[in-house]
Amino acid sequence: MSEPLPGPARLEIDLAAVAANWRALAALAAPAVVAGVVKADAYGLGAARVAPALWAAGCRDFFVARAGEGVALRRILPGARIFVLDGLLPGTEQPLAGHRLVPVLNQPDELARWRVAAAQAGRRLPAALQLDTGMCRLGFSAAQAAALDESSFEGLAIELVMSHPVIAEEAGHPLNERQRQRFAAMRHGLPAAPASLANSSGIFLGRGFQLDLCRPGVALYGANPTPGRPNPMRPVVRLEAPVMQVHDIVEEGSVGYGATWPTRPGARIATLPVGYADGYPRSAGNQATARIDGVEVPVAGRVSMDLTTLDVSSLPEGAVRPGSVAELIGGPDGLDRLADAAGTIPYEILTRLGARYERCYLDAEAPA
Ligand SMILES: *Cc1c(COP(=O)(O)O)cnc(C)c1O
Repeated sequence: MSEPLPGPARLEIDLAAVAANWRALAALAAPAVVAGVVKADAYGLGAARVAPALWAAGCRDFFVARAGEGVALRRILPGARIFVLDGLLPGTEQPLAGHRLVPVLNQPDELARWRVAAAQAGRRLPAALQLDTGMCRLGFSAAQAAALDESSFEGLAIELVMSHPVIAEEAGHPLNERQRQRFAAMRHGLPAAPASLANSSGIFLGRGFQLDLCRPGVALYGANPTPGRPNPMRPVVRLEAPVMQVHDIVEEGSVGYGATWPTRPGARIATLPVGYADGYPRSAGNQATARIDGVEVPVAGRVSMDLTTLDVSSLPEGAVRPGSVAELIGGPDGLDRLADAAGTIPYEILTRLGARYERCYLDAEAPA
């Protein structure tokens, strides 16, 4: 284990931007309620900092994946409504009821066990119901939903009926409308409860998808929910690292493992203290770019565990020195551009942001 010294690379997380993004989505979706999805430690950004910033902005409904994440969030936000997407995995009845968490029930067996838990608790327990409209991941099938009647919900308060979109980021895809219609049909005959279908991208599909409650995650954290169009969200994450060493190339050779980036005399290569062990994707090697003094420079050669190399030949000689700062993620499209270059999605970049960075939170402005 290393000493708790600040890491050389710096990860800036702009909580004011998270709050602004939530407010922008809330304004867009009004009168629908907008929740905050803070599963996986708020997509790797730190739920302990992100969730209070969302609360201060006005967010009152939160989604986590695991029961344990819900218990941890309850300590931070005593007054929030917290939904647990995993539903009612066996053995989680007591912690869920005890911490006033709302399981998103995904199948008849969970519904039955939550009824038993309510009877044992001697009080009505809140629940959400997930319907599978095409994702084929979690949720009641059409036949299972149709088999439900009033007795199915005895002792329970159904606070939300929800489903999840398959391809909301492609606004023109026919599956969006098909899911919307399936969801409406499946809700028929269920107890009247607020309905929820939209993730981040779903909010941008309009009223028919916003319904009563929206569940954005990644857009809060600055990724573009409308790929192919300008990013309407404020950037949240900035990753920068100091140059450790600069190589002035005097003979032909190559950079890094596998010799995948050839060098010519006159080239300059700069080394950064960031690698795939920090979550900077190995697949970004020879693909992604960074910025130094506003100039875009390519990642040269393979990304290794602790180090990444840049070809800084396009900057004037002497402009890049040890201590010069390179921005690896930044600007309105920085997160999406790195994900694209690395052949992945912003979600994966965010949730893998490493533990060795010096994490700096830019505080949210005081609540209005
Ligand atoms: C993760 C998740 C979301 C948030 O999705 P984004 O695309 O990040 O907005 C919403 N609903 C469910 C069920 C999820 O699993």
